[in-house]
Amino acid sequence: MELHDHEYHDLTVVDVIDETPDTRSFVLEIPPALHEAFTYAAGQFCTFRATIEDESVVRCYSMSSSPDTDDPFTTTVKRVPDGLMSNWMNDTLESGDSIEVLRPTGLFVLHEHDRPVVAFAGGSGITPVISIIKSALATTDRRIVLVYANRGPEAVIFADELERLRGASGGRLSLHHHLDSELGFLDAAQCAALVGDVSFADFYICGPGPYMDTVEAGLAMLGVESSQVFIERFVVQVPTAAPAGREDAVTESVVIKLEQQETTVRYEAGDTILDTARRSGLRPPFSCEQGNCATCMAHLDEGTATMRVNNALSPDEVDSGWVLTCQALPSSAKVVVDYDA
Ligand SMILES: Cc1cc2nc3c(=O)[nH]c(=O)nc-3n(C[C@H](O)[C@H](O)[C@H](O)COP(=O)(O)OP(=O)(O)OC[C@H]3O[C@@H](n4cnc5c(N)ncnc54)[C@H](O)[C@@H]3O)c2cc1C
Repeated sequence: MELHDHEYHDLTVVDVIDETPDTRSFVLEIPPALHEAFTYAAGQFCTFRATIEDESVVRCYSMSSSPDTDDPFTTTVKRVPDGLMSNWMNDTLESGDSIEVLRPTGLFVLHEHDRPVVAFAGGSGITPVISIIKSALATTDRRIVLVYANRGPEAVIFADELERLRGASGGRLSLHHHLDSELGFLDAAQCAALVGDVSFADFYICGPGPYMDTVEAGLAMLGVESSQVFIERFVVQVPTAAPAGREDAVTESVVIKLEQQETTVRYEAGDTILDTARRSGLRPPFSCEQGNCATCMAHLDEGTATMRVNNALSPDEVDSGWVLTCQALPSSAKVVVDYDA
């Protein structure tokens, strides 16, 4: 993974598309000099920064476009009631404006397996999911099932495009729209029933927290292994209390490898690895600071650390030593982390 470009880039909005009454897509121009930095995999997201009411606001938005089709680079943003960035983008960002954007990142991507793909999307969760579906249709011959839940018909984003993809898929893509206004909330038993005979599939889930919990419960009823399930969480979760025993940690120093430099920083109790790096004047990559986005991931070369929240790294990645530095509290005398790994 390329982790050396940590700068915000000014990108120009070249088109704004009304998708639903509360959702717009923003097509961004990627100048030739940034083509390499903005190469992305279906399902990934970018971090956007804007100054809103004198405050610097940073939020993540996934690409709804696919890098494997002719799509221009596009993100899709749904208004969140009283939300700062989503309303600002929907209200004010127009063609010709520019916005600061970090290079794409994220682990919610199409994994190379032969298994069918079953995707559960809710509301704006369709954004990375439609990207994955377009890539799966374009680059594989896998069977794909999409279950897309919304409050009512007016909230369905990409209704026509999904229908067009289904029609052109030669029977490979099946669509199940679930509208709460007609059927109430989806429950775990209905999820399990929709999966039917493809419980051996790979599952991609993105949507509101309670919806994702329901889908996970449905998949558990079918005995689906966690290694088959890939989840993107949009919701910010409040970090849980520090793990018991942290106050006993004896960490003295943290060695930080960033952009081919090695810096040793004295550790202050209670700081995360990201806090420690920033306190020393370093500028490591970070975005959500809630353990959701993986922008701040680094490899733990030596020592141990405990993550308060991890909504982004898979168990395999954690086993191989990756940590979300915004959530990682060192727990050994010396800790060495590598942002360049
Ligand atoms: C990896 C990732 C990818 C994402 N991709 C997309 C995408 O493709 N499309 C998309 O639409 N969204 C996406 N999101 C969600 C997006 O990043 C934002 O979280 C979302 O748009 C809300 O941001 P906001 O600034 O509008 O709202 P915020 O200002 O962050 O507010 C969110 C909610 O919290 C409430 N709130 C805010 N501050 C407080 C407070 N102090 N106390 C109590 N309540 C408060 C607000 O009222 C509002 O209801 C993604 C998120 C992640 C992590």
